[in-house]
Amino acid sequence: MALPAKGSRDPSLPHIRTKLPGPAASKVLEQDRQFISPSYTRPYPLVARKGRGAIIEDVDGNRFLDFSAGIAVVATGHCHPKVVRAIQKQAAELIHMSGTDFYYPSLARLAQKLAEITPGNAPKRVYFGNSGTEAIEAAMKLARIYTGRDKFIAFTNAFHGRTLGALSLTASRPVQRRGFGPLVPGVVHIPYANCYRCAYNLKPEDCGMHCARVIEEQLFQTLLPSDEVAAIFVEPIQGEGGLIVPPPEFLRELRRICDKYGILLVADEVQCGFGRTGKMWACEHSQVVPDIICLAKGIASGMPLSATVSRADIMNWPPGAHASTFGGNPVSIAASLATIELLEEKLVVQAERLGQYLLQRLRDWPDRHALVGDIRGQGLMVGIELVLDRQSKQYATPQRDRLVQAAFEKGLLVLGCGVSTIRLVPPLTVSQKQIDFAVDVLDRCLTKIESDSAPKSARSQNQRK
Ligand code: PLP
Repeated sequence: MALPAKGSRDPSLPHIRTKLPGPAASKVLEQDRQFISPSYTRPYPLVARKGRGAIIEDVDGNRFLDFSAGIAVVATGHCHPKVVRAIQKQAAELIHMSGTDFYYPSLARLAQKLAEITPGNAPKRVYFGNSGTEAIEAAMKLARIYTGRDKFIAFTNAFHGRTLGALSLTASRPVQRRGFGPLVPGVVHIPYANCYRCAYNLKPEDCGMHCARVIEEQLFQTLLPSDEVAAIFVEPIQGEGGLIVPPPEFLRELRRICDKYGILLVADEVQCGFGRTGKMWACEHSQVVPDIICLAKGIASGMPLSATVSRADIMNWPPGAHASTFGGNPVSIAASLATIELLEEKLVVQAERLGQYLLQRLRDWPDRHALVGDIRGQGLMVGIELVLDRQSKQYATPQRDRLVQAAFEKGLLVLGCGVSTIRLVPPLTVSQKQIDFAVDVLDRCLTKIESDSAPKSARSQNQRK
């Protein structure tokens, strides 16, 4: 597909009409620099003004194709008309009441819906918060009070949030933890099922899920009494930590261990849930039913909302044990109910189909691109890991960062994750034409980066490996 020189007249594709950042964006950046917390990480100067579907327009009228979906949030695309209508109607009727102290019908209605569509047939209950990290905090507290145990197992490269409890489980980047200790004690991290970089140097064909079995065979035999462990927290697919897709047996093995030792299995589906992977929940790919499932991001197409869903017998804490003023806000709930309808109508199925198409378009990249070490994904949650060479698998972080930047300059919004991976998480409403455009932009940008950064002889050698 030919890329337009400076942009496209087609409103579903990018159009860059100013230098980036443009004049209006530059003014915002100046104000932002002065007043906004410098702890935010902005990979490039996108200053968004409006969005529709997978397209974002900036304050200078430049049009971008959004393969970040606001960090995997706008599952139904930016400002889906049905979601906007639901928000407007609700905002005109009741904006806030606080579900922790009062009742309103939609709170229980969404809770019932979530109980019905999350895995497992046992009766369930729902706790509402406002963000992913709050869903995790609630799960940590719930696991402790229910089991009477205080320890947790989590995984390296995990991202579960940044409030102090969730941060204690997070093991994604040192900067997220440095200077904030002491964190919640009693969290033990072990390597995740990253088959591209197996911590134990094993092959997936015959490893026998060693990375899960170490819990039973090493941890419980040496440093961690199994009867003190309240829960294992796991992302069924790791997002922030590098878009790592484990084999389905991994979750099954964790389930077996949890059942054997009376430990709760908590699935953090904050990023991989709500249809993104081509099933409503990523843990469905392993046919595993978690005891607690944490949801946020895609839950309400961009309105702040999170949910911690568990079996009713587990969520049996006393009044006052846990609550939040804003959790389960009526406007967010209206957006969520509309979002779930759209997902159930067709978007989950579409994510499966288009995800396969995207992966198939990228399949030959490890042969064609010297810098591409691994392509992996499930549905519309796809990662491209860049390495300096395929033998040593040395991370190509500067090249990854350059690719993110170069794509932005061509009107494509992508985010990095892990050490050297590009994360493709477009809205589930993305079209095949938009996928083609994104793949072609990345292809060209990567080719340019490769030819800029490697001597010719090394490059052709690498491509043969
Ligand atoms: N869990 C996972 C898997 C996430 O990806 C994130 C955010 O990226 C969180 C939890 C925290 O969510 P929030 O940023 O809404 O607190």
